[in-house]
Amino acid sequence: MRPNLLILGGTTEGRHLCKAVAEAGLAGTVSMAGRVKHPAPQGLPMRLGGFGGPGGLARYLRDNAVTHVIDATHPFAAQMSCNAIDACARTKTPLIALTRAPWQAGPGDRWTHVPDIAGAVAALDRPAQRVMLAVGRMHLQDFAANPQHAYLLRLVDPPATPLGFPRAEVIVDRGPFTLAGDRALLSEHRIDLVVSKNAGGTGAQAKILAARELGLPVLMIDRPAIAKRAEAHSIAEVLRWLGHVSTDLGV
Ligand code: NAP
Repeated sequence: MRPNLLILGGTTEGRHLCKAVAEAGLAGTVSMAGRVKHPAPQGLPMRLGGFGGPGGLARYLRDNAVTHVIDATHPFAAQMSCNAIDACARTKTPLIALTRAPWQAGPGDRWTHVPDIAGAVAALDRPAQRVMLAVGRMHLQDFAANPQHAYLLRLVDPPATPLGFPRAEVIVDRGPFTLAGDRALLSEHRIDLVVSKNAGGTGAQAKILAARELGLPVLMIDRPAIAKRAEAHSIAEVLRWLGHVSTDLGV
């Protein structure tokens, strides 16, 4: 059977995977949540928006005769990853996740770990500081509980609704970012503290490395747990898996 892949994307790694899949001559579609106004071209046909839970995804897989699912979503997109596990189990569609190792604190790092966004909000219940808040767009309102801080936000699109805290500067920019650029950014904005999800990978790491160089503390939000599934840590591994689970792919 001719392979027909569904790649769950929204990450730099997902975009690179789509390019590799297209170059390997494989057919597939990349799915994006539709949160970003103008998603970067991915090199494969793109569909946008949720599927309607695991049941909706299972229907999509059947209706579109999807042969393999590759979950290349962000490590914090736990709902989508859980839905993929569920829908693939229901439809017996082979699933692999393209994952990246979490960042590890090294010499010079001053990290405090919190388990989730709520933990970060609780930890910010302290006197006013200048905070780079690198948690994406979805959970910004949670930080309205601590309006005393001056927040620096970097977002792909300008916020669609007013922010719940009065002292915020928004930079509209899209990664990957450089160490030199982020070192300058943290210095120019006199940042006292970086709040970040432990995304792993290289695309968003510059601010963490810059904080290390500047001796700044980081409030590191640990990753959500996701049920066990097949995982690959590189595009080559995904392509090998595709060849392995369906030997007629020629990859
Ligand atoms: P999430 O909480 O796991 O997902 C919430 C819902 O959004 C899912 O149940 C699904 O809706 C829909 N969805 C998520 N990813 C989708 C995809 N690739 N294609 C189609 N529908 C998708 O995810 P999130 O944390 O909001 O992240 C949304 C997207 O942004 C993900 O694709 C992720 O790769 C990307 N992203 C997330 C982060 C982050 O920090 N969370 C950072 C960078 C990029 P239905 O249940 O209706 O199917």
